[in-house]
Amino acid sequence: MAEYDYDVLVIGAGPGGYVAAIRAAQLGLKTACADGRETLGGTCLNVGCIPSKALLHGSEKFDEVRNGTFDLYGIKTGPVTLDLTAMQAQKLDSVKSLTGGIEFLFKKNKVTWLKGYAAFEDAHSVTVAGQKVTARNIVIATGSSVTPLPGVTVDNDAGVIVDSTGGLALNRVPEHMVVIGGGVIGLELGSVWRRLGAKVTVVEFLDQLLPGMDGDVRKEAAKIFKKQGMDLKLSTKVTGVAVDGGKATLTVEPSKGGEASTIEADCVLVAIGRRPYVDGLGLDKIGLEVNARGQVETDHDFRTKIDGVWAVGDVIPGPMLAHKAEDEGIAVAENIAGLTGIVNHDLIPGVVYTFPEFAGVGLTEEAAKEKGEIKVGKFPMLANSRAKTNHEPDGFVKVISDAKTDRVLGVWCIASVAGTMIAQATQAMEFGATSEDIAYTCHAHPTHAEALKEAAMAVTGKPIHM
Ligand SMILES: Cc1cc2nc3c(=O)[nH]c(=O)nc-3n(C[C@H](O)[C@H](O)[C@H](O)COP(=O)(O)OP(=O)(O)OC[C@H]3O[C@@H](n4cnc5c(N)ncnc54)[C@H](O)[C@@H]3O)c2cc1C
Repeated sequence: MAEYDYDVLVIGAGPGGYVAAIRAAQLGLKTACADGRETLGGTCLNVGCIPSKALLHGSEKFDEVRNGTFDLYGIKTGPVTLDLTAMQAQKLDSVKSLTGGIEFLFKKNKVTWLKGYAAFEDAHSVTVAGQKVTARNIVIATGSSVTPLPGVTVDNDAGVIVDSTGGLALNRVPEHMVVIGGGVIGLELGSVWRRLGAKVTVVEFLDQLLPGMDGDVRKEAAKIFKKQGMDLKLSTKVTGVAVDGGKATLTVEPSKGGEASTIEADCVLVAIGRRPYVDGLGLDKIGLEVNARGQVETDHDFRTKIDGVWAVGDVIPGPMLAHKAEDEGIAVAENIAGLTGIVNHDLIPGVVYTFPEFAGVGLTEEAAKEKGEIKVGKFPMLANSRAKTNHEPDGFVKVISDAKTDRVLGVWCIASVAGTMIAQATQAMEFGATSEDIAYTCHAHPTHAEALKEAAMAVTGKPIHM
């Protein structure tokens, strides 16, 4: 009889967990994956990346017909109305097809789906839905959950104070939505509801939006979102929210302290971040403690300090992003199988999927300057022939390189397709490219990607179209 039920048991079927399970099975390991949700795919597929992108895409189409450039192209439209129920149904359809796709991949790769939440008994066994399951290796991939704002009670069913999950499922367009938090999720969901007709106010504690992104990008983001009609209250903190009869009254004051004022809204979206999720996992049973930020710490191979227990994704340190979790999922499975799984945490691209998109990889200009002398090349999308032809004037590409070696240290873009453009920059940087390497690489014309080539040329002061 085998010593353990499985070679690998993955706890959590988000992008970290399901990818780890599939790769482990592909490598010939007997694998199970436990998740208590009704469908596979974790936060990302069920209440994160995918539903938000479905609504971003749908709302962008609506906004384009109502306020876009159709007239310029001689396209005449009649009165445009919104069927929100149909848009929400379309979102659910995308989610269903993708979560079902993971179920298919589990079957195809012979990964056993254990339906239920897992709790450790010891380092090699857990209980799932009342059953004891043992495994030689256990991977913690339990992800993250919404960070609550002290004193503010989220009630997604009532739909007045909501978190991202409630903000994705509203069955009405709010008249006035206040978004607490000017980060990625707040700006994406704020954009959705603004396009669908809500007045949107964003309250951000810091003096700029998009913490963690390059300073120029953050400044430009404020200009772009203001131009689109969002009301931005920067350097402002929310100190309380009272709900009465379906209306919310927020009390706000300057972040540094000062006179308080109030804002009335019929919907408040709390989007101040996410925190690692280990509730009910029974980490105490195996003697594994989380750090001060609630994260499970691992070494570069994704081993925790407990033999046979590994961890990946949002639950460990690093950016809380699906592609980071996926890459770690592949790496951990390869390491368990005795191969060499590596993730380069210095090059995890980040994208905000608004219009335009905001994307970056590597160091910000501020962080790069702290490390040494740098050169910076910048090229505006206004001077890129494709963006100009498509009437997409906003944005720029910025390339930051080491002044001595010319090695590219960071790339930042604001463009309609910045999320796609950043892949090229990431790959170039992964190969250790210099700005000259990018500048002398032939780029198809006319494409938005040419702006990256020109920004790289601008590092030495020689862009052509500027
Ligand atoms: C609104 C929103 C939009 C987002 N958009 C993007 C985006 O566009 N791009 C991007 O890269 N990232 C995005 N993210 C972040 C992304 O969703 C996460 O980084 C990603 O899902 C993390 O993957 P994970 O596998 O670590 O965890 P998760 O996806 O959180 O999955 C963890 C799973 O573990 C399960 N679980 C927890 N505890 C247990 C237990 N004890 N037993 C069994 N199962 C358990 C949970 O049910 C869950 O299904 C978004 C997030 C949100 C909320």
